[in-house]
Amino acid sequence: MKILISEIPDEGLELTIDETLELDVIKLVSPVKGQLSIRKIMPEVVIQGEITASVELECSRCLKNYTAEINAPIIVTYHPTGELKAEGKREIKEDELETGFYSGNELELTELLKEQILLNVSMKPLCSETCKGICPKCGTDLNVNKCSCNLDKTDSRLEVLKELLRRE
Ligand SMILES: [Zn+2]
Ligand SMILES: [Zn+2]
Repeated sequence: MKILISEIPDEGLELTIDETLELDVIKLVSPVKGQLSIRKIMPEVVIQGEITASVELECSRCLKNYTAEINAPIIVTYHPTGELKAEGKREIKEDELETGFYSGNELELTELLKEQILLNVSMKPLCSETCKGICPKCGTDLNVNKCSCNLDKTDSRLEVLKELLRRE
């Protein structure tokens, strides 16, 4: 998906995104959808908006696959690659603005969409905030079943207390 910079009107371009993409690391289970507005502030091009997509993730606690909705707010400023050579000319605060580069008259949007989806995928995905995970000892999925080794672990201090009370 390419944008020709010369074809962006002065008042900006509103773009509706509905793209079926493939990511290397995670599986997209829906098209990437959203709304982007593209403005030319020559020589820079600013892209702002939000995209959403459903991805298949593996829960970091119970290791089951689940579908998560990813919302990716986008604000990226594209600079012409020629600017890289002119050192000292760039005064971009990297943490405040995301920066991209374009060369010639073309701006490649597909990479941006992929990048922004990946950026917003949790490093520690959870199928649910309350996911109990699997028992590190016996491997039981604690969302489905209970296991005795887990109970021993959590109640050990309580057991000691009970034992003390019993002796009193
Ligand atoms: Zn889980
Ligand atoms: Zn267990």
